[in-house]
Amino acid sequence: MDYQALAQLLFPNVTDTPEMLEEKFPLRNAPEGAVITRMAPSPTGFVHLGNLVQGLTSERMAHQSGGVLFLRVEDTDAKREVPGAVEVLIDTLKHYGIAFDEGATHDGDSGNYGPYRQRQRAGIYHVYAKKLVSEGQAYPCFCTEQELSAMREKQEANKETTGYYGQYAMWRDRSMEEIQAQLNAGNPWVLRFKSTGSVENQFKFDDLVKGKLTITENNVDHVLLKSDGIPTYHFAHAVDDHLMRTTHVVRGDEWLPTLPFHIQLFKALGFKLPKYVHIGPLMKMDGTSKRKLSKRKDPELALTFYKAEGFPVKAVYEYIMTILNSNFEDWRRANPDAHTDEFKFSPKKLNPAGSLFDYAKLVDVSKNVISKMGAEEVYELLTEWAKEFDPDFAEKLVADKDFAVSILAIGRGGKKPRKDLAVWKDAKPYMGFFYDDYLELPVFDDRFENEVIKSVLEKFLTVYDPADDSAAWFDKVKAITEEIGFTTDMKAYKADPTAFPGTVADVSTFIRQAVTGQTNSPDLYTVMQILGKERSVERIQAVIDTL
Ligand code: GLU
Repeated sequence: MDYQALAQLLFPNVTDTPEMLEEKFPLRNAPEGAVITRMAPSPTGFVHLGNLVQGLTSERMAHQSGGVLFLRVEDTDAKREVPGAVEVLIDTLKHYGIAFDEGATHDGDSGNYGPYRQRQRAGIYHVYAKKLVSEGQAYPCFCTEQELSAMREKQEANKETTGYYGQYAMWRDRSMEEIQAQLNAGNPWVLRFKSTGSVENQFKFDDLVKGKLTITENNVDHVLLKSDGIPTYHFAHAVDDHLMRTTHVVRGDEWLPTLPFHIQLFKALGFKLPKYVHIGPLMKMDGTSKRKLSKRKDPELALTFYKAEGFPVKAVYEYIMTILNSNFEDWRRANPDAHTDEFKFSPKKLNPAGSLFDYAKLVDVSKNVISKMGAEEVYELLTEWAKEFDPDFAEKLVADKDFAVSILAIGRGGKKPRKDLAVWKDAKPYMGFFYDDYLELPVFDDRFENEVIKSVLEKFLTVYDPADDSAAWFDKVKAITEEIGFTTDMKAYKADPTAFPGTVADVSTFIRQAVTGQTNSPDLYTVMQILGKERSVERIQAVIDTL
């Protein structure tokens, strides 16, 4: 067989050579040990937590080593592509702060190693396809769907491994005449790799997460180019990661079964094999057993979920670090205020079997993260969230920024900051009562007569002075308590509750309910300071009028 002639026959228009491409995309000028890596998601419209795990792992590995992170859009599967999905992808990754040095952007590319959308690289793949054919390492296959299913059925009946290999590789050794005849008839073809591997042979391989693996050689003649000339993932992976000068491939471990083929393909193409970082799936507890997070069952798999709930990006990031590197939490305890980038991330610390995702833990982490933010930062992030997910609330926040910031400042900054908010969605239930529109009428404990409550509120209004400090304010509440025959001695009350009609805590609650509509609120003295005299008095008076 004249392979050169076959290559010319199949790819008459390809005039570029691998050498030209090598020159066009030179080795990068990166420092010794720098990791050049990428995110290579498919634009399916669904960006999930697994993408983020992969993204943060590759981002850390690249930037921690002075390397490069780029974004490559793997859009070879046109059937699965949803319009606008590339933009959703780019925007979501941006929202999570994954800083790409180069790659696909909304309106094109940034960087010297593109195009960064695979469908725009068809010409590049064909250069290497032609090379493989000219060397007798790839060949066209004209099998029809029917022939392939007949093959599969026969293999199943014989209890053999299914696939296009060995004696089943029908087009492996056809003559030029047979190929020419098919081409003349206009029949579609795919390009297949001519595997020289044998399943009898095994070799050792080192994965940065999985450790030492024993790999069985691939003997299947996998498809390199589909009938539309677009490459399969495997071929695009080899060509792109070579030409983009990727040193480390960080990807999900669903690719492990085809790794033997990838290794073989890099070798056949004369490419240096990158290092591999195969990440296990995200798991969750379901009852007492672990299972993979599933798109169908678990809304928390979608990144849109975290945005809509209002988890700050910082919190999600912080949490993902805790599940990726087991020593992150210890580091955080020792360095409570350090930026996560100062942590020494290591792919070796990833759990080879996959990380366990625990929603309750994320909520905890998020509470901590928010509690450490300043009121201004909370205000900015909350407002940004509310603009998208609760426009009415956003309007109120924007209408009086100083008011909102002073509310959000309550209990912040000290050694033990309050932890009321885990997500921005919690903010309205927590602070909504400050806004008259969200204020609810109180429902008092029916152990107390309306008359008693009313007299407490009336007495309070006669003594209330916003100029009082917190101690003076509370002394007045205590004085009212005693006047109505309730006790300020909580110890005595606990020892014998029947001895007293009520306590200073009940009196405080009456006032709290009148001012906030609820039994729980941040420090009431502070709340009233922020509301101001006029609104505090107005609210108490309005409640008195209902009693
Ligand atoms: N497009 C592939 C995926 O989304 C990329 C895998 C890789 O990173 O190589 O699974």
